[in-house]
Amino acid sequence: MIIDIHQHITYKDYPQFSELVAHGSFTAKELLKDMDKWGIDKSVVLPLTNPENIDYFGVVGNQEAITECQKHSDRLIPFCNIDPRSILHNPKADFSGLMKLFKELGCRGIGEVCANMSVTSPLYKNLFYHAGEANLPVLFHLSPKKGGLYGMIDDAGLNGLEEVLQEFPQTIFIGHAPSFWNAIDADVKTPKQRNSYPKGKIVNQGPLWRLMEKYPNMYGDFSAGSGHNALTRDQVTGIEFMKKFNEKIFFGTDMFMKKARPPMHLTMMQDALAAQQLSQSEYDNITHRNFERVFGK
Ligand SMILES: [Zn+2]
Repeated sequence: MIIDIHQHITYKDYPQFSELVAHGSFTAKELLKDMDKWGIDKSVVLPLTNPENIDYFGVVGNQEAITECQKHSDRLIPFCNIDPRSILHNPKADFSGLMKLFKELGCRGIGEVCANMSVTSPLYKNLFYHAGEANLPVLFHLSPKKGGLYGMIDDAGLNGLEEVLQEFPQTIFIGHAPSFWNAIDADVKTPKQRNSYPKGKIVNQGPLWRLMEKYPNMYGDFSAGSGHNALTRDQVTGIEFMKKFNEKIFFGTDMFMKKARPPMHLTMMQDALAAQQLSQSEYDNITHRNFERVFGK
């Protein structure tokens, strides 16, 4: 069983929006075709709602994601997305009714959270509080700076993330994107480096190791170029990280385009299993058991 925690789809009736950007259209039908081709059983569909990137990617928002997932409820799992500024830009906004409604409609988490504001801003803290109360894990894109990109902002030490992990122990945080994964390496420090795909050996362990070890509510989403790069740039250290945190990593792809080859994340996992670098149970945890434990079957 393989569950992909990170996918997006475009809306079939409006291909022109997704054609504005590089990825082009990738409808639920195309996603299912790819899943069949590469042996992926289920995929999480992450809507985008943040103004920073909804029009940039042209992928679906909440209602379209729910509609498409309901048509294929045996294979596609919707998350909902809530911009922390929504409901009147108020750090005391009550998101409980909205979250309850999304849960009733089948949404199992919140994401991909992409608002380009500090992770410790009162608006974000309000979202995290309500997510914990509603038992909806938060999958977020992390960013090194304000402007010219998207994602919640933190420093190279991930001090803001640590603050909210402590303040909201009930809330599950699932990290994604270069600035999250590059924190595997203490020597990746400047905003430019943090937003890149560094190569070579990891000499000094970065703050990500400590956060994953210390906080039961910290998880990682092994998707996209960022997750793949961090765990393959130094084979030995990447496998060490995967083994050590095999109960806290979710398999994902974030490759919402028609694929001629299997997603690189799947190839990496299968190669590591075949080479006995990962045990069958470590492989199973990352590919589906962690998901079933955190989100239910
Ligand atoms: Zn994504």
